[in-house]
Amino acid sequence: PEPVLQVEDLSVRFQTGRGTVQAVSGVSLALAPGETLGLVGESGCGKSTLGRAIVRLIEPAGGRIHLAGQDITHVPRHRLRTARRKVQMVFQDPFASLDPRWTVGELIAEPLHIHAIGTREERGARVRDLLRKVGLPQDAAERTPHQFSGGQRQRIGIARALALDPAVVVLDEPVSALDVSVQAQILNLLSDLQQALGVAFLFISHDLSVVEYVSDRVAVMYLGRIVELADRETLFRAPGHPYTRALLDAVPQIGGPRAATVPLSGDLPSPYAPPPGCAFHTRCPLAQARCRSEAPVLRDVGPGHVVACHLTEEAMPA
Ligand code: SF4
Ligand code: MG
Repeated sequence: PEPVLQVEDLSVRFQTGRGTVQAVSGVSLALAPGETLGLVGESGCGKSTLGRAIVRLIEPAGGRIHLAGQDITHVPRHRLRTARRKVQMVFQDPFASLDPRWTVGELIAEPLHIHAIGTREERGARVRDLLRKVGLPQDAAERTPHQFSGGQRQRIGIARALALDPAVVVLDEPVSALDVSVQAQILNLLSDLQQALGVAFLFISHDLSVVEYVSDRVAVMYLGRIVELADRETLFRAPGHPYTRALLDAVPQIGGPRAATVPLSGDLPSPYAPPPGCAFHTRCPLAQARCRSEAPVLRDVGPGHVVACHLTEEAMPA
């Protein structure tokens, strides 16, 4: 099927007092309707920035974003509203930036207000429908978010994100602040909603167990670039990039044996001064001379599987 979201060669730069940071470099990815693409990497790798650029909370420095057939890359800010209907975002703490006096009903209905959708009664009915969809009682509408637990608050955030029937939802660490048992409830809710609504998810998380649980395909980011992308099975059982192997090495094995992994040593280099050549060479146990000068490009290593590494498949650890 036609991708519902297509990102081509997207870049994001920040100017700060310390200089320029290339937070996202030449990222391309596509989402099919109803699929979940997991996006993993260490904190500071640019995955949240990429997610925010896709929903145009951050202006990209270059590249293109196509959403449901429309190029939204250069839609001027004042016309973004229409484009934004189709792509919504869920944050780790959905109400951190919102007025705590608002009721849950007002919060969920706000996107409908902004887009001038429906009468007061119709919006009320939509709020009740969304509360039912996310498993919250009807009387939740009259209460304020701080009266709810973390898991319930995330249900409210999801209801709000779904109010406009988006084609794509970007979820940035949506369960990272929750207890493991509550995490499972929210992940199952997201999966049920996806089944019912056909919405595509870009699921951003540093937690590989969570990503393995929810994703159809997985992209791995390192210092602003995608270094590997594959279907879930391949990524977790036969990863191609030494960095992916290192990330997998750091998490406990759940569903049987992992592929051979490599140890991850050293800190993430400063994004102000990324290493030349392959940006991972300062931490890669398999680095060769060539890796210090020549940046690897993403290349096909199997069906739907791309890896940015100079090593040939034969040289990769089996
Ligand atoms: Fe390691 Fe070289 Fe591959 Fe980079 S290109 S991941 S340094 S082997
Ligand atoms: Mg983040």
